[in-house]
Amino acid sequence: MDFYQPTSLDAALALLAADPEALPLAGGATLVAMMNADLVEPSALVSLRDVAELQTIEAAADGGFRIGAMISHAALADEARLGGGNEVVRQAAARIAHPQVRNIGTLGGAVAHGDPSSDLPAALVAADAAIEIAGPAARRVVAAENFFEDYLTTALKPGEMVSAITLPVQPEGAVGHYEKFARVHGGYATLSVAVVLAMAGGECSHVRVALGAAGATPVRVDAAEARLLGSVLDADAVRDAAAILAEASDPIDDVRGSAEYRLMLVPRLLGRALAAAEGGA
Ligand SMILES: Cc1cc2nc3c(=O)[nH]c(=O)nc-3n(C[C@H](O)[C@H](O)[C@H](O)COP(=O)(O)OP(=O)(O)OC[C@H]3O[C@@H](n4cnc5c(N)ncnc54)[C@H](O)[C@@H]3O)c2cc1C
Repeated sequence: MDFYQPTSLDAALALLAADPEALPLAGGATLVAMMNADLVEPSALVSLRDVAELQTIEAAADGGFRIGAMISHAALADEARLGGGNEVVRQAAARIAHPQVRNIGTLGGAVAHGDPSSDLPAALVAADAAIEIAGPAARRVVAAENFFEDYLTTALKPGEMVSAITLPVQPEGAVGHYEKFARVHGGYATLSVAVVLAMAGGECSHVRVALGAAGATPVRVDAAEARLLGSVLDADAVRDAAAILAEASDPIDDVRGSAEYRLMLVPRLLGRALAAAEGGA
């Protein structure tokens, strides 16, 4: 197996284009474990560690952010500029596993892997983030909501890489909150709820909600948010919205919880996430 350590994104893309069996290597948190288990056998690894343009967090002039794919979960969790609605992404990064994993794992690796039990996909959908994709011929941008297509399947085409994630300017007064239920501290989510919420005059004026570990991709439903908009987030509104989200969910039975148990968590975690965000708002 060959190992490459390019210093530019173009060089990394050229190496991937030259060998369809090569894979990009971010921190290796998942890829190395998959290789050890013989689940993947790349002909070459293209390390992204020395590609400087993937390592920056830029605050855009309009108030949004552009975060390089190689930013670690630890750096994202420590990024104090991610406040307001974008706080949901910072909180999700802070809830990933333990410090050792957060130091190794990267935003781009987590997004490209597309594991529905991982923490960042739902948070990125709630924040209305966009995924910047670099390919050998062109660059393109896909909304986070459309990027996650199925279990471990994303909109990435062969030879393409995640280069950055952009976070938009959130509505005035918006607050983000990430609620995660795991069997043990640092475990993968049994279910998670990511919320970006704004209140005006005691009523919900903006809300985006996405569930994690509730199906093959993050679950977001317009009708659930429509039920919350304009409400005072009373118990009826939260219960109705949770019922709509649960109806759209298709969780699995696994060691972290049965599908039935996960669905039972939806109203409880949604209520907690909205209450926490409302407290902040
Ligand atoms: C013990 C353990 C516990 C964990 N617990 C959690 C948890 O609680 N919550 C959670 O969300 N996650 C968890 N993770 C996952 C971890 O946080 C990482 O996000 C994930 O493993 C990806 O790691 P990585 O960034 O090092 O990518 P790698 O392992 O290097 O790569 C993963 C995959 O993405 C591809 N890839 C990497 N970067 C790019 C890119 N820029 N563009 C395109 N493809 C790319 C690789 O080719 C590979 O297929 C855990 C991992 C471990 C090992």
